[in-house]
Amino acid sequence: MKNISVFDMLKIGVGPSSSHTLGPWRAAQEFVQELKDHHIFDSTQTVEIDLYGSLSLTGIGHATDKAILLGLSGTDPVTIPVEYIDDIISFIKDENQINLNEEKLIPFEWSQIHFNKDFLPYHSNGMMLTAILEDGDKYESTFYSIGGGFITKEETDETIDLSDNKDFPFPTNSGEQLLAHCTKLGVNISDLVLKNELTVRKEEEIDHDLKKIWNVMLESVYLGCHTDGFLPGGLNVRRRASDVYRKLKDDKYSYTNKEEWITAIRKTKMHYREVFKWVSTYAIAVNEVNAALGRVVTAPTNGSAGVIPAVLLFYITVENHKADFAEIKKFLLTAGVVGSIFKRNATISAAMGGCQAEIGVSSAMAAAALCEMRGGTSEQCLNAAEIAMEHHLGLTCDPINGLVQIPCIERNSMGAIKAINAAELALDQDHAKVPLDRVVETMWATAKDMNSKYKETSEGGLAVSVKIVDC
Ligand code: SF4
Repeated sequence: MKNISVFDMLKIGVGPSSSHTLGPWRAAQEFVQELKDHHIFDSTQTVEIDLYGSLSLTGIGHATDKAILLGLSGTDPVTIPVEYIDDIISFIKDENQINLNEEKLIPFEWSQIHFNKDFLPYHSNGMMLTAILEDGDKYESTFYSIGGGFITKEETDETIDLSDNKDFPFPTNSGEQLLAHCTKLGVNISDLVLKNELTVRKEEEIDHDLKKIWNVMLESVYLGCHTDGFLPGGLNVRRRASDVYRKLKDDKYSYTNKEEWITAIRKTKMHYREVFKWVSTYAIAVNEVNAALGRVVTAPTNGSAGVIPAVLLFYITVENHKADFAEIKKFLLTAGVVGSIFKRNATISAAMGGCQAEIGVSSAMAAAALCEMRGGTSEQCLNAAEIAMEHHLGLTCDPINGLVQIPCIERNSMGAIKAINAAELALDQDHAKVPLDRVVETMWATAKDMNSKYKETSEGGLAVSVKIVDC
């Protein structure tokens, strides 16, 4: 596998799920491109969609069906105005047509989406798209959504999202390798990651893209803190970030946009008990936006999108009120490379590894980044990541009704608090008994042993013990 960039780990997208929404959306876009490459786009009469395994079992709650239709319609998850999503889906439902790649209308009935209960052998998240052509022939293409918005084709084992990457001068395939480079060069983790990224793009581009990522993170927190009502999907989950935020906020705050808002928040002096509430509110706000099909940063997945913004906001609103973009950049670079180590050596797919692969990884990423911000050595940062994951090992994925709401939204606040604690614990010790690489191996071994009902199927845990009438 090629090198994994920080920008592969932190991607702008639309909720509620990176593996079930962002990945299938990308697969549908790729499928349209395949039709064009094979010169059969013009003769495509309609499309059949087959979902397998976890994409089928939790696909409705995770909006997989909608994501594929949005991809076939020629929209992009990074740029689509989220308020257009309902209109496009309603058009397809009401008119029984898709505007394929925004170029040609083809007939399409919702019943052409098939939720197959069986699993394809290669990966739990399989999907097959079939174009029916003018002459009655068919063109089929199978994709796998392997977590974090990455997609792959079995026959190539190449993640499509990584196609532009090239070898980095300082490979960071493991914690050990990362630490060895940092020690040899006498640099911290974020500096080393920057050296690698600079071989792919200019520093202005890196800054530009990281600012965009930070902007979307901040926007999702701001939006979540200012939106009332209930989340879609039928569970009647009431949005609560805005309620808690109203209680926490100082009545003297005056702001008209998120930049003024964050400036006001950074002036707030927080009592220790309120700090927990603020951090939890930041995390919950993001994941309420995610659950409502809003725009968030996949970090490393959508289900866990709230952890990193919450810990980064903790740093700039509680720990260091003077932190500027230089520190935000370091935070994101360090978080990104830690996520890439899990992606390469284990998984960031809940369908493969349960929630330890989502919330556990995001917590480890945030812990390492916060540790560096607090002056931790590279070894301490990796130790912080290890501690955060160690205490998420075995965490199952059991979303009620297949919706990324319960336990997902609250779980982000837990992941954020654990990350802060892990950074603190790591700062107090110079050498770790358990290296990061061992916990990554353990996480992967645990993932493989985990019963499939706890891997994003909604067939176990809370998903079966809590009935919708209980909610
Ligand atoms: S339980 Fe965890 S892994 Fe499963 S959907 Fe929710 S956040 Fe994602």
